[in-house]
Amino acid sequence: MSAMDLLDLDSSLTEEERQIRAVVRQLIDDRVRPQVAGWYEAGQVPARELAREFGKLGLLGMHLTGYGCAGSTAVAYGLACLELEAGDSGVRSLVSVQGSLAMYAIWRYGSEEQKQRWLPAMATGEAIGCFGLTEPDHGSDPASMATRARRDGDDWVLTGTKMWITNAPIADVAVIWARTDEGVRGFAVPMDTRGVAAREIGRKMSLRASVTGEISLDDVRLPADAQLPGAVGLKAPLSCLTEARHGIVWGALGAARDCLETTLSYATTRTQFGRPLAGFQLTQAKLADMAVEWNKGYLVALQLGRLADAGKLRPEQVSVGKLNNVREALAIARQCRTILGANGVSGDYPVMRHANNLESVLTYEGTSEIHQLVIGQKLTGVSAFT
Ligand SMILES: Cc1cc2nc3c(=O)[nH]c(=O)nc-3n(C[C@H](O)[C@H](O)[C@H](O)COP(=O)(O)OP(=O)(O)OC[C@H]3O[C@@H](n4cnc5c(N)ncnc54)[C@H](O)[C@@H]3O)c2cc1C
Repeated sequence: MSAMDLLDLDSSLTEEERQIRAVVRQLIDDRVRPQVAGWYEAGQVPARELAREFGKLGLLGMHLTGYGCAGSTAVAYGLACLELEAGDSGVRSLVSVQGSLAMYAIWRYGSEEQKQRWLPAMATGEAIGCFGLTEPDHGSDPASMATRARRDGDDWVLTGTKMWITNAPIADVAVIWARTDEGVRGFAVPMDTRGVAAREIGRKMSLRASVTGEISLDDVRLPADAQLPGAVGLKAPLSCLTEARHGIVWGALGAARDCLETTLSYATTRTQFGRPLAGFQLTQAKLADMAVEWNKGYLVALQLGRLADAGKLRPEQVSVGKLNNVREALAIARQCRTILGANGVSGDYPVMRHANNLESVLTYEGTSEIHQLVIGQKLTGVSAFT
């Protein structure tokens, strides 16, 4: 049992869940941990290579069924996200966007032909997907999106710009959400379609081991069958976000665990005033508080995962987990940084990288404020969004 698991929560995992976790942990130890500081510093990550390796292990769309997907439990998927993000939030984002956003949208709302065309290749990592909802002028309020899709004969013509899109510069297919005369609709857009361009967003101080881009759609003509037939209205992209947010609830715990394990090891070996940092009561108070928060977050994740596996998970419950676990993971990363002193700001240790990454995780997939509003609406029955 890990020293972090104060409440023996691992005992509620099945043997299969434990095995999946062990396999992903090993992969991260072998493939990501030794190199990720360099990727982060360079702002470059071998995302395509990683996707193929993750695909071999069945991590892409792993909680989906059919079309080459592993069909695992939501808890097993969550544990995989936790281990991936213990490596780096950017690496977990690659898997989340591929599986929970792009693949899930096609799996849930696509035609049989769209599923056959994209899902098996995405499950192996041969094809990369992205999910374009956010725009330069519309982030938290996607209902106001400006991207338009208009009918022209049997075709659709898309115009607009999507911003901050994970994987966009390396993607083969983008799930694009656009306003039509009938409301919001989704489209599976091959990235090599004429009029589609993806520009990489540089100078990110966070999630540097993840590729992020802007997609411009300049009179992009698509055949009628590019539209996802089952996606009607804004609730379709929001349901995809609920899927991905569940992974984030778990993933953030991974970043926090890596910070805590690094800090525990540092505090027991670094000596000041003639004793290890871990021997000071002030340090122990910090460590205890962080471990308590981590265990509470793990309980939340397990409960949400079990609800998801029972088919009972509601969006506001995911908001509870996303709000709490990311906020606490970021607080843990910042507190750990203080215990590492000057080394806390060094790239030789993973703590500041995790803290910087978690700033993005706090913002994407619904900011903390948006999740507070979701929970507030549930509690009061009053919407305070506008
Ligand atoms: C690294 C990274 C990767 C991303 N990947 C993707 C992706 O793959 N696909 C995608 O579609 N998007 C992606 N995003 C975009 C992300 O989802 C948005 O940034 C997020 O939804 C917030 O939108 P915004 O940045 O426009 O902020 P804004 O909506 O402008 O919000 C700014 C601030 O105002 C607050 N605010 C806004 N409205 C309210 C309100 N009603 N009440 C109180 N406070 C409010 C917000 O909480 C926030 O603090 C990514 C973002 C980042 C940083």
